[in-house]
Amino acid sequence: MVERVYLAKPRGFCAGVVMAIQTVERAAEENPGDLVVYHQIVHNETVVRRLERERGVRFVEDLGEIETTEERPGTIVFSAHGVAPEVRRQAARLGLAQIDATCPLVTKVHSEARRYAAMGYTILLIGDSADHQEVKGTLGEAPEHTILVAVHTQVGKDPRLADPRTVEVPDPEKVLVLTQTTLSVDDTDATIAILKKRFPKLVTPARSDLCYATKNRQDAVRRLAPKVDLFLVLSSRHSSNGMRLFELAGKLTRAVRIDTPEDLEEAWFERVRNVGITSAASTPEDLVTGTLAWIRERWPEVEVIEEGEWEQIRFRKPRPKRPEEVLAELG
Ligand code: SF4
Repeated sequence: MVERVYLAKPRGFCAGVVMAIQTVERAAEENPGDLVVYHQIVHNETVVRRLERERGVRFVEDLGEIETTEERPGTIVFSAHGVAPEVRRQAARLGLAQIDATCPLVTKVHSEARRYAAMGYTILLIGDSADHQEVKGTLGEAPEHTILVAVHTQVGKDPRLADPRTVEVPDPEKVLVLTQTTLSVDDTDATIAILKKRFPKLVTPARSDLCYATKNRQDAVRRLAPKVDLFLVLSSRHSSNGMRLFELAGKLTRAVRIDTPEDLEEAWFERVRNVGITSAASTPEDLVTGTLAWIRERWPEVEVIEEGEWEQIRFRKPRPKRPEEVLAELG
């Protein structure tokens, strides 16, 4: 019988996700039935399906899928994960107006990649997959200067990512490490420590590339895990920060990942008294509320405990740019 539910705090939407979704909603109002978003705006199926259904937004993975005409050149929004400059250039050449909803914390990593590549550094970019949109975007800033590196616990999972223990660079005096923003804090620290040992002159960013939302959600899971018998992690499979939450919770207690409350199974709750709930930075809060309602329906006396602080960070929404403006910026 479930007696207590601990809600992790913070959980759910981060400032980057709020900004990205609101950007699409506003752009959809201004371009009714005619808005294209490159890649899932955030990695959550529910969010994407709602934008398709309720706002008429179209999501594409390839610019070749877009038909433009001179009378209706159209507008494209780039997702929170960021894109390579080449994608922005191609979209501009198609005549599309662009709204770049890249999270500013990802943009910061792009700027560092550009800055150090211009100084002749090799960039070791730690990521969880060469296919992750954020990794592709950062890599695209300086592909000839960048080597993708796996987190030390994930070596071999994606053969395109080098092993931090054996990766070689042309000049060990000029090496910078950057990371995807949504990795495991512990594993990233350990991976950077391995690289630092191998390349003592390794430059690390003044502030970690791992974003505040990733760190805070992992900290909240770490705090709650010792109190719970079962941790429910609401996250899409493609959400990097959500999957890292699920892995962390699974290391510390029993954890189950669900996309929505419809996935819940009563059998999981046998002999469970204390349940933890957390959600990825791209998971809408109503899915948490729905999960709680499902539990309350079965155990109406359940006590709900929520400790911790919400974040107070907000990001400004981007403005649309004309194609010629984008081409001038890219040079
Ligand atoms: S998870 Fe972090 S990097 Fe990604 S959108 Fe949110 S704040 Fe930005």
